[in-house]
Order: sequence, then structure tokens, then C-alpha cells
Amino acid sequence: MLVKRGIAVSPGVAIGPAIVLGTESFRIERRFVSIDAVDMETARFRAALDTTCREIEINEKLASERLGAQYGAIFSAHLMMARDPKVVAEIESLIREKSFSPEFAVSRVLRQYAKRFQNLGDQYFAERSSDIYDLEKRLLRHLLGERREELAHLTAPVLVLAHNLTPSETAGLDRQFVLGFATEAGGHTSHTAILAGALQLPAVVGIGNFLSDVSGGETIIIDGSHGVVIIEPDDDTLAKYRQSEERYRSHVKQLETLRQLPSQTRDGVAIELLGNIEFPEEAAPARQRGAEGIGLYRTEFLYLEAHREPTEEDHYQAYREVLKAFPTQPVVIRTLDLGADKMPGDLRVDYADGVNPALGVRSLRLSLQHLELFKTQLRAILRAAVHGDLRIMFPLVSTLLEFRQARMILGDVMEDLEEQGVEFKRDVPVGMMVEVPSAAVLAEEFAREVDFFSIGTNDLIQYTLAVDRGDPQVANLYRSGDPSILRMIRNVIAAARKYHISVSVCGQMSSDPMFVPLLVGMGLRQLSVTPQAIPELKEVIRNLTIARAERIASRAESMEVARDVESFLRGELKKICPETVQ
Ligand code: PEP
Ligand code: MG
Repeated sequence: MLVKRGIAVSPGVAIGPAIVLGTESFRIERRFVSIDAVDMETARFRAALDTTCREIEINEKLASERLGAQYGAIFSAHLMMARDPKVVAEIESLIREKSFSPEFAVSRVLRQYAKRFQNLGDQYFAERSSDIYDLEKRLLRHLLGERREELAHLTAPVLVLAHNLTPSETAGLDRQFVLGFATEAGGHTSHTAILAGALQLPAVVGIGNFLSDVSGGETIIIDGSHGVVIIEPDDDTLAKYRQSEERYRSHVKQLETLRQLPSQTRDGVAIELLGNIEFPEEAAPARQRGAEGIGLYRTEFLYLEAHREPTEEDHYQAYREVLKAFPTQPVVIRTLDLGADKMPGDLRVDYADGVNPALGVRSLRLSLQHLELFKTQLRAILRAAVHGDLRIMFPLVSTLLEFRQARMILGDVMEDLEEQGVEFKRDVPVGMMVEVPSAAVLAEEFAREVDFFSIGTNDLIQYTLAVDRGDPQVANLYRSGDPSILRMIRNVIAAARKYHISVSVCGQMSSDPMFVPLLVGMGLRQLSVTPQAIPELKEVIRNLTIARAERIASRAESMEVARDVESFLRGELKKICPETVQ
């Protein structure tokens, strides 16, 4: 039995057989293919080899053109090796004669060569051996990349283990058969982690190297509440976890009894709880859990899930579906936040890649550079708005001019619709995410022009503290309780008050029960949260008075370091709601 620890990002326990999604760094198990699949598997190897060679040719050309022929020659050596008839024949003969899987055959042959070079004890040959490992990685990436597709054809329950899952891969997980997942990479508020919550899959991320200890098929426990993954658990551990799975379910059931009760403090102040969703199908369950509307619909998932570019009609239908669950309540549609880690795999849109995608053409910047894409979405929102209380929110606004430009384009789209005689709603509130420090600092200036604010703490923390939200190596530096973050939130709330606009927090911070007394004490009366968290948050709110929340906020805001703030808030939560802390 092997116990691994990571970051708990989506609660619950899942127990079942593992399926390992490959990366270059994990052990390739000895797998056999059936005799009648040998031709197909050989062809699969050939196809991967062709793709690999094409890829190397491109690199060779680029390196020669940009850096000079001697750099291109590095890739010529890779190419020669990839095309070496002896090497190719050896791999094929392992597939044909021994029925080895192409992955195992490739790995075995190339590693043998690499080892031989390494053992020659000469610097030149040692370098050639790393070329061979590189070639192995490339080939495996193509072979295993295909295996990821198999995830779409599951027929039995599995737990997915991977180095990393992109948000699109996570969105594509078969909710019927995938019971949970664990990854080597990833951080608290990475989009993959957020999706795990949306899909209600127990998940642990940021475990670090562990895939070399698993080959697939073993029984695994994923404890998404405590960030633990257990490989091949013993009988006692299995029994203990089955019990805890049961306890978790009954705790969730018990919280569900709060569904009908209002979200208000003990002294009767309403704290509106809205839901964050990624897929339209989440709207109805969010309502069932007690959401009073949708405070954040991350519409980019329309792109991440699809295998073609969504049309205006696709957008429109998605928004109508959300409105069906919330016909009279607020529904905030956030325009596309594509870019950084949220890039559609199959879509052929000309998105810039960028040197540092989190600081590059992401989000509203991308929409402003791809006006057709942006206008298509805005048309659909304005049309759907006729059917309910839709609101538009722009993400990642970093300057006033950017906001004004987006608003102007919205005006152009209205004119087009008008001219074309298409029915739409004109007076749709237009708000913005406050998730870039510049916007938090200039909150007053923005508050004069926008209809509402929603504070995106996930990005605000990443950009303020210079900590990548998806990087497990700096996860300990990613602190919602940092005084700089509290001060920015305070500033945004004050600006919203001054100009009489509404403000909420839609980052993961507001879904964490520990921060709710603080946020309420700072003056927030609306939170947009992960729908699963609503019953628990409601319990905290119903046990709180405004006076107590204000005392908590003022004490927390007087502290100098995140660690003190967070441990103080944890202690207060324990007093308010001992059950929740357990
Ligand atoms: C945020 O940054 O806090 C936010 C809600 O947006 P996302 O998590 O989609 O980047
Ligand atoms: Mg964000």
C-alpha cells in the first residue's frame, strides 16, 4: 500500500481501478496486444512515427532558419535515428512477433539503445543517448495521446491518474464512468480543479511524481476531502474508507435539509448565494442546491467541450437552458475567458500562443482581437436576454480603455441586431470581473462606468502575489488570506458602495466556509460560489451575526501575514460551526 499526498480540490471519496494517462515521464508497462490486432497496432506505430518525423522536420527547419544550420543539425540527428530502418524493424518485430504494445516496444528498443550509448562512457555518446530518450518521449506522446481518446469510450468505472489534465480534457471526462481523478501537476484554483468541483468528482492535484508507481488496473482510493491518494490499499484501509464514503454521503444529505431555508444571518440580513457554473446542465442542480441565480457562467467551456467552433445558435441555446432554471433570477454571463490554460484543442482558431500565456492574449484581450468570435457571443447574449434577467460580465479587464472598447462593441452589436430586425434586449447590465490588480487599485474609476463588480480572487491572488494558480510548487504561496488581497477586496467594496453598484466575490475564496465570516464582515451581501458548497455556506451564514462578522473582519484585517489571518479564521469558523470544520 502506497500513500501519496497532494492538494484536495474536490471533496468526497472514490474507490476503484486506476487508468493511467501517459506522459513522457512514467513507466511503460509490459502490455500485450491480441494477435488479430497486430496489424492495426503496427499501423498505429507507423502513424505515430510519421507524425513524429514531420514534427522533427519542422523543428529542424525552424532551428536552421532562426539559429543557423549547426542547430538544425541537432534535429537532423533525431530524424536519422527515427528513420533508421534497423531501429524501426526492431520495434515492429516486437509488435508482430511478441505481440508487445507499440508503447512498450518503442520504449524497450529505444531505451536499450540509449543505455548502450550511455555505457560507452564518452561525453559525445552520452549526449546521443539523451537524443534517444527525447525521441522516445516524442513517440510515446503521440502513441499515448491517442490513448487519451480511449477515455471517450469507457465501459466500466475508473479513477483517472495523469500527470496533468487540461481543462478541456477534464470537461470531456465521461461523467458516467470516471469516479474521480488525481494528477501530479495542478494547484488549488487551477481550472482543472474548479471543473472537478463542477463535475462533482473527488479529486487531488499537485501530488508530484507518482505515476511511476502505478501502471493501471490497481485499486486506488482518492480522498478528495483530505488530498490523499492510496495505491493498492490493504483491507483495513479499504474498510475505513468505505465507511468514510458513507459518512460523507450522509453529511451531504443532512446539509440538503437546509435547501429550503433562507440564506440569512441570525440577525436577519440576507446574504445572496449565487452559483458558479461551467456547463448549462449545471444550472438546474445549482437551483436545487439553493442557488438564487447564477453569478458566474464560465462560457468558454462551450469551446473547451466542443469539437467545432460554437455558433451563435449554440451560444443562444446554452443561455436559454440556464434561463430555464432561473427564469426571473439574475444570470451573469461572463464573456469568453479563453487563453492561458483554457485553450480549445481541436478548434482551428488563430489564437496566439504567447511567451507567458497568463500574461498574454487571454480572455477579454483575445475577444477584442477576434471580433467575430466576440460579436457572435454578444449577439447570442442580447437575444437570450429577452427571456430573463441576463447580465453581461467582461473578464480580465485591466484598463478603463479596454472596458470602454468592449462596451462600444456591444453597442455595435446592438445596432446590427436593430438593423436586421432581430429581437433583443437593450438595457442589459454590463459589469466586470475585478481580477487584475490594476482594476482593484482603480476600483473607483471603474465603479463610475460599470453596472457591477465581481471579484475574481483566483486570478487576483495569482497576479498580486505573482504565484501561478496551477503550479503545485508554489501552492504554499498562494494565500487568499494575504493582507494585500484583503486590502484590495476592501478597496473594491468601498468603491462599489460609493457609486451604488453591486459587488460580489466569485473566486474560490467565497466557496471556502472559512472566508465567509470575513467577507460578510467586510460588507459583502452577495457571493457567487461553487453550487456544491451552497448548503455548507448557508449553514455558516445562518449561525453568524453581522456584528460578529464585522469583529472577525476587523481583527483579520489588522494582521500582517496570511498564516495568522488564516489560522484565526479557521479558529473562528470552528466556534461558529464546529460541524463544518470536521
Ligand atoms: C477568478 O479568477 O477568480 C475567476 C472566478 O475566474 P476563473 O477562475 O474562471 O479564472
Ligand atoms: Mg479569472
